[in-house]
Amino acid sequence: MYEAIIIGGGVIGCSIAYHLAKMGCTNVIILEKDAIGSGSTGKCAGGIRQQFAAEVNIKLSMESVKFFERFEEETGYTADFRQYGYLMLATTKDEVKQFKENVVLQQKLGVDVRLISPQDAREILPQLNVKDVLSATFCPTDGYADPYSVVQGFASAAKRMGVKILEQAEVVGVKTKTGRVQCVTTSDGEFFADAVCIAAGAYSAPVGAMVQLDIPVHPHKRHIFVTAPSNEIDKRSPLLVDFHTGFWFRREGPGLIFGMRNPNESDSYDTSVDWSFLQTICKFATRRLPLLLDLGIVRGQAGLHEDTPDANAILGIVPEVEGLYLACGFSGHGFMHSPAAGKIIAQLILGKASPSPDMSPLALQRFQQKACQVEKVFI
Ligand SMILES: Cc1cc2nc3c(=O)[nH]c(=O)nc-3n(C[C@H](O)[C@H](O)[C@H](O)COP(=O)(O)OP(=O)(O)OC[C@H]3O[C@@H](n4cnc5c(N)ncnc54)[C@H](O)[C@@H]3O)c2cc1C
Repeated sequence: MYEAIIIGGGVIGCSIAYHLAKMGCTNVIILEKDAIGSGSTGKCAGGIRQQFAAEVNIKLSMESVKFFERFEEETGYTADFRQYGYLMLATTKDEVKQFKENVVLQQKLGVDVRLISPQDAREILPQLNVKDVLSATFCPTDGYADPYSVVQGFASAAKRMGVKILEQAEVVGVKTKTGRVQCVTTSDGEFFADAVCIAAGAYSAPVGAMVQLDIPVHPHKRHIFVTAPSNEIDKRSPLLVDFHTGFWFRREGPGLIFGMRNPNESDSYDTSVDWSFLQTICKFATRRLPLLLDLGIVRGQAGLHEDTPDANAILGIVPEVEGLYLACGFSGHGFMHSPAAGKIIAQLILGKASPSPDMSPLALQRFQQKACQVEKVFI
């Protein structure tokens, strides 16, 4: 009998396990159908930003940034966190208005962020074409970390404290008895626990269906392309986001990585690389960053975003099923929010929930109550 079972060994599940163990609860097991970090976590860009529109997301990011800053001290492993900033570009009047509102709220909450001119943006990243840019925002304490190092850091530290991790163990059923969770069935047998947390990333909806729970998490394919080596962009440059198109890039090793959302992507678990989409990205990308025209592409990869209808995570209890917790639907923010989200779920499981930050905007019930507030800074 375990105190807690965590379904999914991505960055969220491993952070929850780490925080549970740190709070003294080590009788915990992570059940992972494949290998630790093999889901969306291992396919992500590692971006960490505090530049959101919703207060709850800004607060999750602020707490997580503080954790990433002391990741090594906490876990004994490096996160390779590079605080080179996030530079976000606005190209329409509506976006400028949105950016202004975001900055007011972010500054009020204590984020070191500022609204800057297109010329200022070019000073930060001289290779940019800013002809159509109306305004920009820059936050120097944003940045990026290495997803593999972070997920392995959480997992190894949790294991060191006594947490068990079972890989190649697919959860195929979740049993309840008189309205509370009882056990989880896997290819390796049954596991009993007082608490079960669904942290199955883009696969959280099918896991929810095992207890007749509708979890509105939709899988959407996202790409990352890797360029040939180039030293034209400084190694300490920020992660750039062209807000209108969703095109982003940053330095990675000797070259660059970049991607862009595809508004026509339908729900699917497919993660094969769609090379034709590279043509679409390049149309926008080479206009914003003309030097891309001369760079070869050496690799492409695709992973799954776990999107919800309002682009916010689902974090908290399930009133209908006692002992069941949800930590999923991070809508492309899961890596950056993993430290804070892991701590919040661990506190909930141990009955030590803190009233701040207020997590009610992330409750599952918001969908039934039609009380969703869409996160406007969705990339
Ligand atoms: C291209 C791309 C770029 C991204 N960039 C960023 C970024 O810059 N910053 C950011 O914060 N986020 C980013 N994201 C999003 C980020 O990857 C996710 O939000 C985050 O990894 C979610 O972590 P997770 O642990 O919830 O999911 P996952 O990492 O997917 O982990 C869930 C795990 O559950 C396992 N699982 C599923 N079903 C079962 C089952 N039945 N039984 C047992 N195990 C199961 C899976 O195998 C998986 O390992 C990006 C995503 C993509 C695809």
